[in-house]
Amino acid sequence: MIASQQRTQVVHLGKLLVVGAALAVASIGGAAATAIAAPSGNTPVIIVEVGDDAVFSERTTFTVGTTYAFAPINVGAERHELIIEPQGSLTAQPLTDGGRIARSAPLASSTAGMLLWRFDAPGAYQLACHGLDHGDSGVSLPIEVTN
Ligand SMILES: [Zn+2]
Repeated sequence: MIASQQRTQVVHLGKLLVVGAALAVASIGGAAATAIAAPSGNTPVIIVEVGDDAVFSERTTFTVGTTYAFAPINVGAERHELIIEPQGSLTAQPLTDGGRIARSAPLASSTAGMLLWRFDAPGAYQLACHGLDHGDSGVSLPIEVTN
């Protein structure tokens, strides 16, 4: 586990990386910029630490119909990603919504990403990574989505 002081540093790093990502996307313009700009307003930003041995998020309960800006930070040494999937999935089973998929880009060590996601149904889900370095079941954190 990460000591609290280290965790604080990680969160600070994450916020800087999220701002950097937002600026990068904003420079592209269009709908993506609108979506990314929203986290500075009402869209909750959820920082998710994805490590070599565990996934951590200070928030694990979410509401149907709210768009969240999940900001995965790779705090491990290996390459990781963030997948939102049904709880208990032993292989990558990312949620889908039309053409969208609840899966971040692969993240190199000490980098952050952004995954905007709105849950359309209540239930038991998990934040997970199923990279090869984790073995079959991957690393995951149970979350709950309610109406
Ligand atoms: Zn991983």
